[in-house]
Amino acid sequence: MDKIKMKTPLVEMDGDEMTRILWGWIKEILIEPYVDLKTEYYDLGLPYRDETDDKVTMDSALANKKYGVAVKCATITPNAQRVEEYHLKKMWKSPNGTIRRVLDGTVFRKPILVKGISPYIPTWTHPIALARHAYGDIYNSVEEKVSAGEQAYLLITDKDGNEIRRQLIHDFTKGDGVVQGQHNLDESIKSFAKSCFAYALENKVNMIFAAKDTISKTYDHRFKDIFNEIFDKEYKDPFEKAGITFLYTLIDDAVARVVKSDGNILWACKNYDGDVMSDMVATAYGSLGMMSSVLVSPDGNYEYEAAHGTVTRHYYKYLKGEETSTNSVATIFAWTGALYKRGELDNLPDLMAFAQKLEKATIETIEAGEMTGDLVSLFKSEGVTVKKLNSREFLEAIAKRL
Ligand code: NAP
Ligand code: MG
Repeated sequence: MDKIKMKTPLVEMDGDEMTRILWGWIKEILIEPYVDLKTEYYDLGLPYRDETDDKVTMDSALANKKYGVAVKCATITPNAQRVEEYHLKKMWKSPNGTIRRVLDGTVFRKPILVKGISPYIPTWTHPIALARHAYGDIYNSVEEKVSAGEQAYLLITDKDGNEIRRQLIHDFTKGDGVVQGQHNLDESIKSFAKSCFAYALENKVNMIFAAKDTISKTYDHRFKDIFNEIFDKEYKDPFEKAGITFLYTLIDDAVARVVKSDGNILWACKNYDGDVMSDMVATAYGSLGMMSSVLVSPDGNYEYEAAHGTVTRHYYKYLKGEETSTNSVATIFAWTGALYKRGELDNLPDLMAFAQKLEKATIETIEAGEMTGDLVSLFKSEGVTVKKLNSREFLEAIAKRL
């Protein structure tokens, strides 16, 4: 059989620990036998990031901008303990943070659904994709403790520091307290909105965006206005043609609607709402190993990855020669997502079909009862006997079906 040919290389960002092991096996067992794989390889494993003073991360992000599509393995974000463990020169920044800054993107997460694994909310028969705005609000805020008798003001100056306007936030006559200042940027909100509309259109799902504009009449209202303006100007007709809807509503109403829905929506969230709700949605659907993630930039660049980390606990077992049963589904779907998108952009129907077949084989393997340990206790399907496989056996079972 001839291998499927590619035109443009994928940007391949290798990573750390157990996911690095899975990465190599996924390529060896599931992709390279069928695809004449063309990648531009960047090693984002922590040792090489350290060796290159983290230049490799920036290079990979720029390559993502150049070629358009990247697939990324999970990577360690170093903390003090990792600096010691890997004898690092410095506590390097989060690679995902660096890539997000370069691409100016929005992160979309979506659960991978399998018959036999039921979400905690039984009506969620379709996936809920969640988009999180990753700039500003409380994540770039300043805060102060305020003592009794002091006053706190919101002060706006010109570029030389001359006062233009001020507003009393609170006169702390009755006792001590706290105060916080946060901001956002029209440009950032606009690119967030555009990324969400583009995602909803591409995936043909209804979209909800929510804030609290009735209470936050200027700040949250700005979000509402920007979303509505962009929708009316650029997306109203394409949405209508695609048969999908956009709804702006209040965040508490959105939570109620999402819980009652059958899934099948894109839920666009402000930064804090997205932080909280993405963990709720991921857990409610089952396992971290079944959550895919893609970073989409407003100018049409894509970076596909798994939503989970490097699965350190399993890696230490692997290093001791013990058997592991680590779920590779989200990492496989990062590869299929990237290959499919590359096929679409380069007009390679064979590559797109291959990506779809690999996803189908992966899901059918689990539905037939062959799965990794994390799924065993979640899986219930009449007449299907469950077989727990180790990390490599699971990939081989998929290959057999493929
Ligand atoms: P993690 O790697 O996601 O793992 C946390 C736990 O969740 C695991 O110990 C395991 O539970 C379970 N789990 C996660 N993925 C799994 C999978 N594919 N198959 C089976 N079980 C899975 O998070 P972490 O341990 O907090 O972080 C480890 C490293 O990953 C850190 O250095 C962090 O910086 C990095 N990280 C990277 C990314 C990224 O690159 N996108 C994201 C998050 C974290 P059991 O131990 O109970 O089996
Ligand atoms: Mg969080």
